[in-house]
Amino acid sequence: MAGLRDIQDHLRDGRIRVEDLVAESLERIARSAPLNAVVYTRPDDTLEAARRVDERLRGGDLPPLAGMTVVLKDNIAQDGWPLTCASRILGDFVSPYDATATARLKAAGAVIVGRGNMDEFAMGSSTEHSRFGPARNPLDPERVTGGSSGGSAAAVAADLCRAALGSETGGSVRQPAAFCGVYGLKPTYGRVSRFGLVAFASSLDQIGPLARSVEDLAAVFRAIAGKDPRDETSEDRPLPVDDFGLSVRGLRVGLPGEYFLPGLDPEVAAALEMVKRQLQEGGAELVDVSLPHTRYAIPVYYIVANAEASSNLARYDGVRYGLRAPEAESLEELYVRTRSLGFGDEVKRRIMLGTYALSAGYYEAYYSRALKVRRLVRQDFLDAFQTVDLLLTPTTPTPAFRLGEKMADPLAMYLSDVFTAPANLAGIPGLSVPAGRTASGLPLAAQFLAPDFGEEVLFRVGKYLETVNESA
Ligand code: GLN
Repeated sequence: MAGLRDIQDHLRDGRIRVEDLVAESLERIARSAPLNAVVYTRPDDTLEAARRVDERLRGGDLPPLAGMTVVLKDNIAQDGWPLTCASRILGDFVSPYDATATARLKAAGAVIVGRGNMDEFAMGSSTEHSRFGPARNPLDPERVTGGSSGGSAAAVAADLCRAALGSETGGSVRQPAAFCGVYGLKPTYGRVSRFGLVAFASSLDQIGPLARSVEDLAAVFRAIAGKDPRDETSEDRPLPVDDFGLSVRGLRVGLPGEYFLPGLDPEVAAALEMVKRQLQEGGAELVDVSLPHTRYAIPVYYIVANAEASSNLARYDGVRYGLRAPEAESLEELYVRTRSLGFGDEVKRRIMLGTYALSAGYYEAYYSRALKVRRLVRQDFLDAFQTVDLLLTPTTPTPAFRLGEKMADPLAMYLSDVFTAPANLAGIPGLSVPAGRTASGLPLAAQFLAPDFGEEVLFRVGKYLETVNESA
């Protein structure tokens, strides 16, 4: 695969144009309709944007993401395009502005080619809870892409675009990246502005990139990261260098015992063994560590995330955005009918759980206690990072499961996030890297977790493994 730098050499010489790259991407999207990865395109707009980048190139400018084609998850605002979160309740709502991440991509010369399918309001782990119908895994169309950023992951895996943005609340970038065999990063909380990302659970949400190479992933990350006056939780921190080196020599990699339990899928376990070996061969040191509160992460996550969601989703009332139920006789009836028509079953389930956890009498027992345990989950990581530079874990307990397999069992679906949600609770960054295939050809993956604002070490170890696997 040609790297972005090679492509940019060709762009600089005028041997290819951004318009050609974008036209090719649009064609591939059109041909891949059965995957249901991309839910909207606007070919005329997109080609026009490509021509504007070509003009910048002719003017002697070489923007850092020139030649980069990007799919945005359908919960990230893009001026003049539909923004539906794969929900009926948003109807045909069109965003009147760009998210900060979108604006930064455009400024850096990237061209946005389409909108990625997702679980409604980013609630799910399979991209089956979508008003557009399920996305399909490019490596096996009978299997899920993972979720909730499944359309973004499938689009990257099927080469419909070079990179994509997804969003993470409990694993929605890393888990589909693992299922589709691409790289997916959950940045540190506060690293990327949430302005223009439709809120699910504000204390957990982060936008994150997906790509087929670490170089592309890091390039997109560098473009979107940084302080934004429009998001008070965004932080001003130096960005990682773009030349992260290839060595893992001397890195201390922690292996949390709680993530390697006997029930782990044998092929996932074997992939992790391979990664451990590769790290040791590169001179990294493996160290056993313990994160004792891991087993509380899923219950805590589903209390905190749903509590915040029940509050964030109160704004969809039939008055302000999208869908409005017809012929309501009173305001109350308008709210109730709009919400009952507009939200899917999973979203309703979350709103009810979250409302319950926040209600008088239960608040102390559930929400307030969950916040305390969340703090302990974070403390586990802080303690571990006293002795190691990063952690290695599986990204998911199994490879991609079959379409429909977990739809009747929400709790089984929730357990897909058991290895990813702790990092969201703690706010730390995590990277899912491809780690070979199962006997039947499904992608396997490993996850690395780093201290706050430690994305650079994630790119470094990702790049090392990518290079080792390419030369294998
Ligand atoms: N699968 C998790 C959930 O359903 C995480 C979703 C996400 O990260 N957006 O809540």
